[in-house]
Amino acid sequence: MLLEGVLADLTSQLDAQAALGVQITALNEVPEEGPVNKGLWYQIPNVTAVFVDLKRSTELSADSTPKTSAFAYTYFIRAMVLIFERFGSDYIDIHGDGVFALFSGPQSEFCAVASAVTARTQVERDIAVRFEKDTTTEWKLTAGVGIDRGTLLVRRLGLRGAKQNEVWAGKPVNMAAKLSSVACSNQMVVTDRVFSRYEQASYIRRRALLWTCGCSDGVQGDGLDIPIGETECLWNEESAPTEMGLDFDHLYRLKSKWCCVHGVEFCETIVTGCRPEE
Ligand SMILES: [Zn+2]
Repeated sequence: MLLEGVLADLTSQLDAQAALGVQITALNEVPEEGPVNKGLWYQIPNVTAVFVDLKRSTELSADSTPKTSAFAYTYFIRAMVLIFERFGSDYIDIHGDGVFALFSGPQSEFCAVASAVTARTQVERDIAVRFEKDTTTEWKLTAGVGIDRGTLLVRRLGLRGAKQNEVWAGKPVNMAAKLSSVACSNQMVVTDRVFSRYEQASYIRRRALLWTCGCSDGVQGDGLDIPIGETECLWNEESAPTEMGLDFDHLYRLKSKWCCVHGVEFCETIVTGCRPEE
């Protein structure tokens, strides 16, 4: 009988796991090989998790032809994976119609935010434009991005062989996914613990991360040359929604994308902490 077999296997697997116990090893960065098997978990501090997902994807599935939906997912997922990979993400995975990327190491929050602004910019500037050529749907391709930071536990679980998957347990992945749903179209939302890292960064990073370049309505600003505080702040603070099981008090929204004139310089400054040489 099917059920008897399932239950017998379940009991024997859980007994075997109980005999093995669990071990937790602390690491500083996400290991290249992924977590090992047996009872070993890795505990990794200071991991920044970025989650990006398609907005209104339920409407996409309901209102569009299968070919349209397939194009949207293909453009979106391929582009997001490429961007996170190029920004040095240690681990990228696809969850439903979203992509999550982990960045580890003491500076992880800077590569994470630069990759996220790039993702959000390219969704609007390149991916959505290609998708608009499809006249069979009124659905607009936009994305929401969430970012959190903290300690993660990881191990490989599942069936032996090809069906094994890594399990990433810890608040940052959950919180980043929840924040991506709080984000409006083509918006990025970060937790207060991520934002406070940006406020404590070096002068040139704070300049690039927190303040605009001064460009507006066809008038070119002076970019990083404008002193801190003399242009508009890029972020809006608000109280975290209470009904979503969030474990932080405030969130910060970033609506802007990379400026066509200053984006390259701002991105480089955020990632490296140095202003690129002219
Ligand atoms: Zn600009």
